[in-house]
Amino acid sequence: MPESTPPTRRPCGSRAVRSVRGSANFASLAMLALALCAAARGESGDAAARVTPGGSAPANPEALPPIDAGTSLLVVAPHPDDETLCCAGVIQRVLRSGGRASVVWITSGDASVLDLLIEGKPFGGAGRLRELAEKRMLEALRATSRLGVPAEGQLFLGYPDRGVSRLLTDHRATPYTSRFTDAAAVPYSAALFPAHPYTGESLERDFGAVLERVRPTLILAPSPRDTHPDHRAAGQLTIAVTARHGLLGSTRYWIVHGGEGWPSPRGLMPGVPLTAAPRSRGLTLAVFPLEPAEEDRKLEALRAYDTQLRTIAPFMLAFVRSTELFARLPGRDLP
Ligand SMILES: [Zn+2]
Repeated sequence: MPESTPPTRRPCGSRAVRSVRGSANFASLAMLALALCAAARGESGDAAARVTPGGSAPANPEALPPIDAGTSLLVVAPHPDDETLCCAGVIQRVLRSGGRASVVWITSGDASVLDLLIEGKPFGGAGRLRELAEKRMLEALRATSRLGVPAEGQLFLGYPDRGVSRLLTDHRATPYTSRFTDAAAVPYSAALFPAHPYTGESLERDFGAVLERVRPTLILAPSPRDTHPDHRAAGQLTIAVTARHGLLGSTRYWIVHGGEGWPSPRGLMPGVPLTAAPRSRGLTLAVFPLEPAEEDRKLEALRAYDTQLRTIAPFMLAFVRSTELFARLPGRDLP
């Protein structure tokens, strides 16, 4: 059930400046925030022309397709939290426009050894990591419920964290065993297809079943240029399977691990636009502007991820910005 959060409208400058108050470099950060806000204002007219939340035809071929009551959005998330980081604004806009929104999580984030260390459980082993994954799935349900995603749109596949690329290469037909959970098949009862084997063929079949179920008109997938191997592999999986279903043209690409130091600056700076990632170089990006209430709700959703905020909060909060960015093309591979 969606949880309500009172949206608050604040001027760009005051929101950004408040977020850096207390810093030793307050003056320089405030100047940076104001400059970024000015850049956002300068972009907004162009962005409105390229991104058409009202449903009119896009004026630019790089734009997202029109969002309206006929939209069926599918966000492909390699791990719990990616869907909110990349796409919370688009998810909300689709639902507000009367469309449908679904998220498919490829893995449940069960390789987060760092989380166990933070919890003081460094020797917890496979059982502890599976417990952690159950917790992360609950966080994902809470986060996406806050964005308005209904239960039928919350789809877990439960494949191995840090193992997706192996499935698509040397474990297409022979099961892969996760070195984190010791599982060689989907171990989660909350997954769509419990006990399906950890093979590339099984993953592609399950992903295809999700496409049949959701019948997406817009797919937001991780970029094959992302530096995280699961993200790259999930992007390649999406390209391969959507091409077979004739949906490749409906796919757009986002990036979360976009290169050293990105997003910059780190931390919460709402009202400030997201800059293009270094690994997006050469790609033309559609700029999706969030309304302040959508940005506020994105932050509320992100706050559901207690486990991740304990370890990488400045990184995660840096995605709560006034824009989200999407590429129409995956681009050539980068080293
Ligand atoms: Zn991820």
